[in-house]
Amino acid sequence: MVSAGVGRVTLVGGGPGAEHLMTVGALRALADADVVLYDRLAPHERLAELAPRATLINVGKLPGHHPISQRGIELLMVDHARAGAHVVRLKGGDPYVFGRGSEEVIACREAGIPVEVIPGVTSAISVPASAGIPLTHRGVSRLFTVVSGHAPLSEEELEHLAGLGGTLVVLMGVSSLPHLAAGLQRHGAAGDLPVAIIERGYSRQQKTTVSSLADVVTDATLAGVSAPAVLVVGEVVRLAHAGAQDAAEVMRSAELLVENA
Ligand code: SAH
Repeated sequence: MVSAGVGRVTLVGGGPGAEHLMTVGALRALADADVVLYDRLAPHERLAELAPRATLINVGKLPGHHPISQRGIELLMVDHARAGAHVVRLKGGDPYVFGRGSEEVIACREAGIPVEVIPGVTSAISVPASAGIPLTHRGVSRLFTVVSGHAPLSEEELEHLAGLGGTLVVLMGVSSLPHLAAGLQRHGAAGDLPVAIIERGYSRQQKTTVSSLADVVTDATLAGVSAPAVLVVGEVVRLAHAGAQDAAEVMRSAELLVENA
């Protein structure tokens, strides 16, 4: 039994940054929150309206640009819940996809705080979609692999990924792109395999750079590519052009949806 006065924590996946891609569960949790701890990549523009009762704390960036440590976030979460608050930890995408969500769940459990997880729309799938790129397509790709490019992949991983076929999706991959492109080709991936880099999905600054494994490092430099971005390697990238659904078009229809909601 939870002792009287102890609050709870809800880990909420906020989706890739557009409000219309937040779930009903996410909106309900926010509406009920006393404290919201949010990340840079979580949708936070209208948090004051979505969580009208809550104290809003940006844990992605403090004034002066010093991010709070992971342990610091966990302590904040636990302390507020211990004081009786319903704490919503709003994260970008899905909490369990490279989001350290499971660490936060463990921290709550260790502290005896009730914790619930609300999944979100991950950028791994939605950001390519926003550029018209499907991760699977009958006859083109029947599997997709999502990897973190935060630390460079090992030779063994590169070898497996190059041999796997299908679609490769890389999050946090901008700085390790040269290592990835060279490594995949070293292990037999074709130089003309298409690559797309989608920066800042679902924002007004969204930009897609389409290239090939052989040219992507040069093209990314020329285009001034920067994080956050999702990388897609595979034949499905070609479908974006066949679909004629460019990023600006998707943005316009997304805005219409929000306006008409
Ligand atoms: N839990 C998140 C991923 C966290 S890792 C999810 O499920 O989406 C952070 C990385 O996600 C970024 O470096 C970038 O690769 C990707 N990302 C998240 N939101 C994005 C967006 N709106 N546009 C482009 N990339 C995004």
